[in-house]
Amino acid sequence: MAQKLAKEYDVVVCGAGPAGLNAAYTLCSVSDGQCRVAILDKKEPWREPVSCAEAVSKKALEQFWPSNEAWIRQHLDGVYFTSPDGTKVDFTEDDCGYILNRALFHREMAEKVEKKGAFCHFSAECKSLFRDSEGFWNVDVCIDGVISSVRAPVIVDATGPGAKLTHGVPLLETLEAGDNDLEPAIFAIVENVEHNPKHIELLFGNKYFPGGYGWVFPRDSKTVNIGLVNGRKYLKTHSPRVMLQQFLAKYYPSAVVKSIHGGAIACGQSLKPIAVAGFFKSGDAASCVNPISRSGIVEALDSGHIVGECAWKWLNTNSTTEKKSIEAETYARWMKAQGNTHLRLSKAKVAFSSIQDCHFDKAAHKLARIPQKNRTLFRIFFTVLCTSPSLLWKMRSFVYVR
Ligand SMILES: Cc1cc2nc3c(=O)[nH]c(=O)nc-3n(C[C@H](O)[C@H](O)[C@H](O)COP(=O)(O)OP(=O)(O)OC[C@H]3O[C@@H](n4cnc5c(N)ncnc54)[C@H](O)[C@@H]3O)c2cc1C
Repeated sequence: MAQKLAKEYDVVVCGAGPAGLNAAYTLCSVSDGQCRVAILDKKEPWREPVSCAEAVSKKALEQFWPSNEAWIRQHLDGVYFTSPDGTKVDFTEDDCGYILNRALFHREMAEKVEKKGAFCHFSAECKSLFRDSEGFWNVDVCIDGVISSVRAPVIVDATGPGAKLTHGVPLLETLEAGDNDLEPAIFAIVENVEHNPKHIELLFGNKYFPGGYGWVFPRDSKTVNIGLVNGRKYLKTHSPRVMLQQFLAKYYPSAVVKSIHGGAIACGQSLKPIAVAGFFKSGDAASCVNPISRSGIVEALDSGHIVGECAWKWLNTNSTTEKKSIEAETYARWMKAQGNTHLRLSKAKVAFSSIQDCHFDKAAHKLARIPQKNRTLFRIFFTVLCTSPSLLWKMRSFVYVR
């Protein structure tokens, strides 16, 4: 980053996570370098720790970015589903995805974005914004304690969950705020835990993970990532940090905790618009996370790609009507890509959250008796469903639609 932030761009992307980086990359690609893009973040996107368990589906990620062994921590070949009484159901498949090194992944993305011609500044915090009489957005940016202003007809807000950039801007109040069903998540990087390095483990049970689930993910030869995400309504009664500490003390008493990190996950698909007057929202800032798995990396890449393409189209028309229809198209494209599935999953999640521990255990015992090679993900899902008739009834439309 040799140059200084200019006064004006065609697009200013706020936030350089996977959503912002892919939006910037897409804008540079579709415009063949014609679009003047600045991407700003308050910190280097490769700065550790990235608050994430870093699991992704290989197939899904590769739709947006080619894999590179340099940022893959671990290839996965299976999942243990563990019920509250400790019964483990082993599901194996040749390609269960991988655990990323997100810091290195972000670094590669940022380097490619810069190579494509975007201006990158990674110690620039976007503080506030307003729209001037010419229809340009003016963003106040804090760099080394000094506030300067940058303007652009298009802004991409990719500042992550609970994005605050739109607060207090009347024109943007109707947009999705990135706080839909905001759930607390926490994890510890620990040593001295034995874990199959090619399997992730997902744990269920209302004692430690009410309304959510726990996880044990491999990381490298020495460390694993142990964490949990709980339903939003249990935040007051089940402090995530206390739950994690109690879980570790009970099941991994010899674990050596190296560090603990937390974050929030906006995991309810919203019905609110995500673009207005040249202001586009992307990734977690638009609540694009899968409501059940709580995965958001590939979702952010997908959303960034859609927003990048739509923003470039928006810049290339002078018609206000067409601009409005492109803004509506942005939401429609997201809904078609993943949002409609997320809406259905949001409904299913309510039913899933009500599964009692005894039903999880019953399903796990049943599944454990099925030969491993016959355990498909659908069979696992359906067995859990069938152990609880009331759940089957609540989820009838979901099962039918799928
Ligand atoms: C504990 C935890 C575990 C998770 N595990 C997984 C997982 O295993 N797999 C998965 O797929 N998903 C996981 N997720 C979800 C995933 O991390 C997010 O969905 C994903 O990071 C969203 O990408 P994003 O680009 O929208 O936002 P982010 O990755 O949050 O990026 C936002 C960026 O904006 C910057 N920023 C914020 N405010 C400003 C500002 N005012 N000015 C400038 N820059 C700003 C931030 O510094 C950040 O770099 C997890 C989330 C949590 C909290």
